[in-house]
Amino acid sequence: MIKAIKGTNDILPEEIVEWNYLINVVQKKMQLFNYKEIRTPIFEHTALFSRGIGESTDIVSKEMYSFTDRSENNVTLKPEMTASVVRAFIEHSLGKQSGLNKLFYISPMFRQERPQAGRLRQFHQFGIEAIGSHNPMLDAEVIQVAFEILRNVGLEDLTVTINSLGIPEERAKFSAALKNFIEDRKSKLSEDSQRRLDTNVLRILDSKDRNDQNLLKEAPSILDFLGNESLEHFENVKALLKSAEIPFTVEPKLVRGLDYYTHTTFEITSTKVGSQSALCGGGRYNLLVEQLEGPSTPAVGFAAGIERILLACKSEQAFTPAKEEIDIYLIRLDNQLEKKTFEMASLFRGNNLKVELDYSTRSVKAQMREANKYNARFVVFIGGEEFGNGQIQIKNMQTGDQTLLSIKDLEKILQIVK
Ligand code: AMP
Repeated sequence: MIKAIKGTNDILPEEIVEWNYLINVVQKKMQLFNYKEIRTPIFEHTALFSRGIGESTDIVSKEMYSFTDRSENNVTLKPEMTASVVRAFIEHSLGKQSGLNKLFYISPMFRQERPQAGRLRQFHQFGIEAIGSHNPMLDAEVIQVAFEILRNVGLEDLTVTINSLGIPEERAKFSAALKNFIEDRKSKLSEDSQRRLDTNVLRILDSKDRNDQNLLKEAPSILDFLGNESLEHFENVKALLKSAEIPFTVEPKLVRGLDYYTHTTFEITSTKVGSQSALCGGGRYNLLVEQLEGPSTPAVGFAAGIERILLACKSEQAFTPAKEEIDIYLIRLDNQLEKKTFEMASLFRGNNLKVELDYSTRSVKAQMREANKYNARFVVFIGGEEFGNGQIQIKNMQTGDQTLLSIKDLEKILQIVK
């Protein structure tokens, strides 16, 4: 038997209710903050990601689903969205049409990670890319959108962590100081961190290894390397978050995995999803558009993982989506009346009523059971003497009341069931 690929999930009908609930909250919030949806292809030229995300990142160095297609193109299933959105922004000159582009997306992503709870190989993200402004209001707004979505789906156990990585010169000075600090302790570090010393020293701050974390307690802080402008930007973001009543903590070790961040970085975590605690992460990336050969344009964004958010919701019992029901179940008293039943179903469905019927030859009792299973608000009986006289019995499943009405009197029927 052929099974689904490891690290991929089927989203079954009973789960889709929760997905749609979350997506609905996302769409409403994006509309409120005036973000416009963008969709980009599932696959792109591999170079877009290696240049956009950075060769030394985990994503590019070991997690991408890359292959050569039949025309010898090197292509990759998208592992994240920022590079794709920036490519589209440049390709369609969106910056010329409007000074500020506030974009959002909902899309599957692909990374060949080691699967575990909350970590998949095909997963789904929603997120924002707001391209075209330096203003710290936009940093704060992006964090606010993410936070409010998570709050609106009912999550309470949320921690917002923020940091600033400043501008490249400041970051470079900090990297050098950090490297110095770590060189002295190199032999005590985990193998992964030792490797990162030469490839991506900032990433060592992300290490989940306990021993590494202890060693890093005394490490220099990026915040001591920021110049006045960077500090002012960061102070503004913090003040705006406070005014939006978003609780946050500053964590100078929050560098995030990607090379393209400048200034603000942030993460929203939950303690309710085990070791994969990050629900959402993002930050400012003022250099990426230029790096991908577009006009120099500042930008800020975030990505949030749908599967992880739903795990957190489950564990917090955050929401109980409304019980599904149908308006009418058609009960056929006589199997000769299939065509009539079909016609009645079309008539009701044509009037925007949700209708279900029996597709086999069940007994009346069994059909009644089906009606209950579907939480039918009404059942309509097709057949019997009354039906022959052009009348139907409508039963209200909640009160048990039955009404006999002429089939021709559609207005009255609709009045009862609507
Ligand atoms: P990133 O794009 O790595 O910053 O991730 C942003 C968010 O996407 C994370 O906070 C997670 O919620 C989610 N995410 C990232 N990688 C995975 C994965 N392999 N499986 C499930 N969710 C993921």
